[in-house]
Amino acid sequence: MRRSLVAGNWKMHGSRAENTRLLNGLLEYDGNDWEAEAAVCPPFVYLTDAARLLKESHVFLGAQDVCAEAAGAFTGEVCAAMLKDVGCHYVIVGHSERRALYREDDQLVARKFLAAQSQGLVPILCVGETLSEREAGQTEAVVGRQFDAVAAVAPPAAFEKAVLAYEPVWAIGTGKNATPEQAQEVHAFLRSRIAKLDARIASLLRILYGGSVKASNAAELFAMPDVDGGLVGGASLKAEEFAKICSVA
Ligand code: PEP
Repeated sequence: MRRSLVAGNWKMHGSRAENTRLLNGLLEYDGNDWEAEAAVCPPFVYLTDAARLLKESHVFLGAQDVCAEAAGAFTGEVCAAMLKDVGCHYVIVGHSERRALYREDDQLVARKFLAAQSQGLVPILCVGETLSEREAGQTEAVVGRQFDAVAAVAPPAAFEKAVLAYEPVWAIGTGKNATPEQAQEVHAFLRSRIAKLDARIASLLRILYGGSVKASNAAELFAMPDVDGGLVGGASLKAEEFAKICSVA
């Protein structure tokens, strides 16, 4: 049985005061009726504050990115050991904004995945196609390629300690989510891809859907058999909305 996960990607939003309000608001719902795991991924500079606020809670902490290198002369970067040190459990790798805006290619994402796992962090590996790729019928080729780049360097067992997130680029921050059927189709494709490597691990792997998830559409998306929760951007910045999404997961 896979336990659902709802992870909030705050992106570059927040302040110390806003985050305190948001997390305290979220903690009012913590433990109420969530069967799902919940996690929040604040910007790097707020991780320590968030770790302190979440200390006694069931909400996990995650980061939005990680350096592929272990340590050293990489000005501006944050390595996996540091994320672990401040209390992170999860880290997002290969978010489409990192791929598109910061030119992260499949190979770099794969190295980040390995770097995260080397420190005991659980990577949330994002894959997803653009609108033009979908319209050209390339969705499976694109997400398959993005997944294969990681599978080429990580053994099948690595996916036992990882989470996959299908995030169609055209649905992120646009208010236009994939339909449950569209999401299910790609999730099933990804699970079958992993099943070719290891059927048991494929059945255990959590595959999240991300792209304009809200309280109003979460239930129908999460009802699909291969959708094991969500990676939530905008709606994770409102405590009540995020808590509602967690409670339906
Ligand atoms: C995201 O940031 O990964 C995301 C899915 O954003 P949104 O929920 O706002 O579309």
